[in-house]
Amino acid sequence: MIDLRSLFPDELQAALAPLHLPAYRSKQIFDWLQRRGAQSAGEMTNLPKELRERLTAEFFISSCEIVRKQVSAGGARKYLFQLHDGQAIESVVMRYSYGYSVCVSTQAGCKMACAFCASGQQGFTRDLTSGEMLAQIHAAQKDLGEPISHVVLMGMGEPLDNYENSVKFLRLASHPEGLHIGQRKISISTCGLVPQIGRLAGERLGVTLSVSLHAPNDALRNQLMPVNKAYPIGALLAACGRYAKAAGRRVSFEYALFRDVNDSPAHARELASKLKGLLCHVNLIPANPVPELGFARSKPEQIRAFQEILEQSGLAVTVRRSLGGDIDAACGQLRYQTLDVRY
Ligand code: SAH
Repeated sequence: MIDLRSLFPDELQAALAPLHLPAYRSKQIFDWLQRRGAQSAGEMTNLPKELRERLTAEFFISSCEIVRKQVSAGGARKYLFQLHDGQAIESVVMRYSYGYSVCVSTQAGCKMACAFCASGQQGFTRDLTSGEMLAQIHAAQKDLGEPISHVVLMGMGEPLDNYENSVKFLRLASHPEGLHIGQRKISISTCGLVPQIGRLAGERLGVTLSVSLHAPNDALRNQLMPVNKAYPIGALLAACGRYAKAAGRRVSFEYALFRDVNDSPAHARELASKLKGLLCHVNLIPANPVPELGFARSKPEQIRAFQEILEQSGLAVTVRRSLGGDIDAACGQLRYQTLDVRY
């Protein structure tokens, strides 16, 4: 069945054509699905009862049911959502000075198998639809009672491995008659699927591309991120340069610092030389320890030294504030199987 929340206005109108509705009805339904975030047709109170019943009986509307919520001391919230087929996914909401940002999952599980990522350990189950990505924002917003202003596609999954749905999500989330989240307030994060980065550059979207780099050379990156064997750093950085030019926006490189793995001054110098001349920004992430995978967080002085070397070579660098570590809501920590819940 078609997911009504995954449709653009013209597609929605076409899907509803068999009901022979006046044109304004499909506008109302789009408003409920996209802007007001109705979970079901039953909530669409300005539609005749008979129409609500037909929508319920004959169409599908994706939604996220909150199974569990955890609130961290720092104010981050992690939601465990259940989808219509019983799949569980997670989203995290963080509060910043500029508003609330939500970290949205794009797949149940992930195929990429990065060595340090807890989310990748459980394998891949399925892609999420764009409606299911939007439903995460609506459910979180409703629970929070406040609007969410920023979105990062950095939850579970690899967005560019679910390309069509992720791009449709970007367009629907920024649609003026929907959530209307400016594309500049949306980031899409990838482990580095080079062909899809090229394709994304051609979409003419204003979203920020984040690339999870985590290593300055192929030997190390091959060990940490298997995807690098298919798309090595040289090809990846060339694709990033083309994206930056096409989008007119800096690419953001994520670099998680793992103790004694990728955090030496030599690594920093090598990284600086690779990124020279690229329109970019480096976001250093104090890694989230995954002891069972053998990764620890770099020491603060190591992180500072790494940052200084990059800055001295003229790169724009920030160190990510660590939020949500106490509820396993930190980067790469989303793994619903460890939660003691029944689905
Ligand atoms: N697949 C996409 C988006 C999801 S991962 C990507 O790879 O970018 C979100 C971010 O968390 C990525 O940058 C990922 O590399 C990072 N991450 C995974 N495990 C981590 C860990 N243990 N510590 C810090 N960051 C981690």
